[in-house]
Amino acid sequence: MVVLAGWYFGFDPSTILGGGDGGLLPGGGGQITDNSGQDNGATPANDEMKQFVATVLAETEDTWTGIFKSQGLTYEDPKLVLFSGQVRSACGFASAAAGPFYCPGDHKVYLDMTFFQQLDQQFGASGEFARAYVIAHEIGHHVQNLTGIMSKFNQMRQSMGEVEANQMSVRIELQADCFAGVWAHYTGQKGILEQGDIESALNAAKQIGDDTLQKKMQGYVVPESFNHGTSQQRQTWLARGYKSGKLSDCNTLSGPI
Ligand SMILES: [Zn+2]
Repeated sequence: MVVLAGWYFGFDPSTILGGGDGGLLPGGGGQITDNSGQDNGATPANDEMKQFVATVLAETEDTWTGIFKSQGLTYEDPKLVLFSGQVRSACGFASAAAGPFYCPGDHKVYLDMTFFQQLDQQFGASGEFARAYVIAHEIGHHVQNLTGIMSKFNQMRQSMGEVEANQMSVRIELQADCFAGVWAHYTGQKGILEQGDIESALNAAKQIGDDTLQKKMQGYVVPESFNHGTSQQRQTWLARGYKSGKLSDCNTLSGPI
C-alpha cells in the first residue's frame, strides 16, 4: 500500500531520499532540465528521449497558452526535470519509485527516466502517445495550480479524513486526465496525431487505473484507498476532454464521476 501511495501520477512526493542538481538544456522545444545519470549506475536520458519530452512539453505550452489567452489569462510555462534514481524538489525528495509528479511549489514536472520503460514493459502501455499522455497529465496539474484549483484542494484536504481525502484526490486526478484529453484534442486538430495514438493513451489510462494496478500488485482491490480513479474513470475523463476540447467538460469536482 505504501508503494502505491504516490502512484500514478501524483503531485505530492512522500519518499524522502537524497537528490542532485543539474544544468538547463539549451534550445528546442519546452524547457527541460536533465538531472539523469547523476546516480551511480543510473542510465542517463538519451537524446531521442529528451527531444521527445521537450517536443511534447512545447506542444502543451502551445495549447495551454492559447486556451488561457482565450479566457483573458496568461499561461506560465512550467519546467520539466528529468531525473534518475532520486530527485530534490520544492515538495521534498522523491525517488523514481513514486512515479512522475508535479510539484506546485516550484512549478516543475519531475519525470524519471525509467518510467517510460516501466510503462511499456510492466504496465503494458506502449506507444509514444501513452508517454505523451503521462506528460500531459502532469501538465494538467500545472494548469490546476495556475488556476487555483490545487491550492483549494490542498486547503480542504487538511480538514479531511483519509477516505474523504482520497475521494477528493480522485476528482483532482481525473480532471488532470481530462485536461490531458483537452490537450490531445488540440494536438489532433493540428493533424500531428497518428493512427492509434489516442488508443495508446486510452490504454495507458486503463493500465494505470487504481483497480487495475492494485489487482496486479496485490491481487485485490481496496476502493477506499483509490486516489487516482479506476481504469474506467480515467479512460472516460481522458476521452471526454479529447472529444470536446472544452475545459467546461472537465468539471470533475462536483457531481458523479
Ligand atoms: Zn496526477
